[in-house]
Amino acid sequence: MFRKILIANRGEIACRVIRTARSMGIATVAVYSDADAQARHVAMADSAIHIGPAPVSESYLRADAIIEAARASGAEAVHPGYGFLSENAEFAEALAAAGLVFIGPPASAIRAMGLKGAAKALMESAKVPVVPGYHGDNQDADFLLGQAEAIGWPVLIKAVAGGGGKGMRRVDKAADFAAALAGAQREGAGSFGNPKVLLEKYLVKPRHIEIQVFADSHGNAVHLFERDCSVQRRHQKVLEEAPAPDMPPAMRQAMGKAAVEAAKVIGYVGAGTVEFIADVADGLRPDRFYFMEMNTRLQVEHPVTEMITGQDLVAWQLRVAAGEPLPLQQSDLHIQGHAIEARIYAEDPAKGFLPSIGKLHQLRAPAEGPHVRVDTGVREGDSVTPFYDPMIAKLIVWDADRAAALRQLRRALGSYRIAGVATNIGFLLALAGHEAFAAADLDTGFIERFRADLLPDRKPADDQVIAMAALGVVLQRRQAATDTARNSADRYSPWASADGWRLNDTGFDELHFKDGEDDRICRVDYLAGGAIRIHGQAGAIEARGELTDGSLDAVLNGQRSHAGLVRQGNDLTILCPGASHRLLLVDPRDAGDEDVGTGGALAAPMPGKIVQVLVAEGAAVAKGQALMVLEAMKMEHTIAAPAAGKVSKLHYAAGDQVVEGTTLLAIETGE
Ligand code: ADP
Ligand code: ADP
Ligand code: MG
Repeated sequence: MFRKILIANRGEIACRVIRTARSMGIATVAVYSDADAQARHVAMADSAIHIGPAPVSESYLRADAIIEAARASGAEAVHPGYGFLSENAEFAEALAAAGLVFIGPPASAIRAMGLKGAAKALMESAKVPVVPGYHGDNQDADFLLGQAEAIGWPVLIKAVAGGGGKGMRRVDKAADFAAALAGAQREGAGSFGNPKVLLEKYLVKPRHIEIQVFADSHGNAVHLFERDCSVQRRHQKVLEEAPAPDMPPAMRQAMGKAAVEAAKVIGYVGAGTVEFIADVADGLRPDRFYFMEMNTRLQVEHPVTEMITGQDLVAWQLRVAAGEPLPLQQSDLHIQGHAIEARIYAEDPAKGFLPSIGKLHQLRAPAEGPHVRVDTGVREGDSVTPFYDPMIAKLIVWDADRAAALRQLRRALGSYRIAGVATNIGFLLALAGHEAFAAADLDTGFIERFRADLLPDRKPADDQVIAMAALGVVLQRRQAATDTARNSADRYSPWASADGWRLNDTGFDELHFKDGEDDRICRVDYLAGGAIRIHGQAGAIEARGELTDGSLDAVLNGQRSHAGLVRQGNDLTILCPGASHRLLLVDPRDAGDEDVGTGGALAAPMPGKIVQVLVAEGAAVAKGQALMVLEAMKMEHTIAAPAAGKVSKLHYAAGDQVVEGTTLLAIETGE
């Protein structure tokens, strides 16, 4: 076995590989770009080597820099993870030339499956069923139209070098063909450097079912059953599960056999996935599945297979790469229970799933155990950057059967708390809670079909949420007052108390929240013993609680309630089970408190765009006066003066884009 390996990747997959290597006593070397100097994978590895600037073309895709790092570190083998260089045959060859082991298949096997057209031709000759279509060399537009007519509409045009759902066009009628063909060719040439396309019958009700295969260098090959990845958005997987719901044993056997055959035909070694598409217009049938492509690497969704087989696929990869035989034979492998994986992304479903960039101010994952596994590459306080895939984590659940696993998934998703970026957790919860998903009424059109149920309109914060927010604000003020008193000479001074009845003698306060466009003004009464009464829209709520490390444990009208609470300046995020709400606290009394940087410099509380500058350089300002308005994630944040003084410097103008922590302007307070 290797003594030391280098992981040529980043994020969760780099962490995943390090975990297994460590458990096997293998030393690990991480590589990192400028943007990842503080990343989790770097912290986890035994050592780490810098390979270049943030853009992937200058770091993680630099084969030469990675090989140099492997040489310098004394690593014997390189694990490529997925993406990046994992399916790059030249990289595998260059490693071999440098005397290093590639933890993956032979370069010849990567090449055989590299182009979809050639791979299909090869599979056809091996009697593996392929989707009916044309995958020859003739790329003449009229000829291809003729082929499409012969296949029958609808037809799918695929760039042979495509991947990740790119370079595909569905065509429903002859009149649309020429434009779609040109589009697919353009995308193929632009993204993958190859304009060649193939044509396939477009299956109207398909399921994506793939088989995990494994082969060693001694001629053994097995499959580790199937994964169903039918829940997709724009041909990208969102939920993956194993085994496939309602899979007839005869079909499982036929697919497993075809996948192992595919691996054998190309002399495969290591972990691979054979992707099939099943035509489920008449349900799952052993004669209605077709080879689509083979991914010659470890797959993102490999954990669901690990959960149902009890195997560690990375350990298998390391053993096979070191020349050992497969740890188990086909007859030793069995399916136990059911596993589901959800990909948690920093993206905003309300804005067309646009990636959401920013700092993870709060990141609390569900507790891990036999039923819950979390694979992640980030920690609280880390940032999601524009340079890499915005995946935050993979949440994997397991239980004895699908219904129980689905309950685990809902519970685990509901207990996730992430603030600082928008996430798809609400969307995943809607999916996991959908009755059609529970009934396993699956096909790749699932998300489109139920779009309206899965992307509900934003709900206004209800009284409970407002009460939690108000309680959080009051508890924070009390904490701040206690801290002040502790540091002041007269620790019993009434001026150090944040309770309304002492501050202003009225015994109540008014809190003004902005919930999107809506104003929510609520009266808060201070009661004996530290409780408060919040006057909401539907009545009063008596609340008490404790705020520790961003977690609010509350009792609302006698009912226990838990939420995450994150405050950035006057921007509050309340993370209730399964839902997150953002509120803006409009509070002249302590306006700007948290926005104060050191030395009178005001910093941007989050990344965003300056939409208004309300003062000029040299202007005298009063405490609490609004100075700038910053728009971030479609909400406006007012930057207010922390104290009376003079604006000594304006660093930005309206329209400027700023990153979090940027100094926006400076104030001289005359102290
Ligand atoms: P799957 O998601 O089924 O494993 P994909 O082909 O969609 O297969 O890609 C696997 C992962 O590899 C993606 O989630 C993505 O993060 C990464 N990836 C795909 N293509 C690239 C690429 N060209 N460069 C970097 N990463 C990539
Ligand atoms: P990629 O390399 O981008 O992963 P694939 O060939 O694996 O490309 O196809 C990606 C997805 O596109 C599949 O999971 C499936 O949802 C859809 N798809 C592919 N081929 C067909 C087809 N012939 N009919 C209908 N949908 C298809
Ligand atoms: Mg695919």
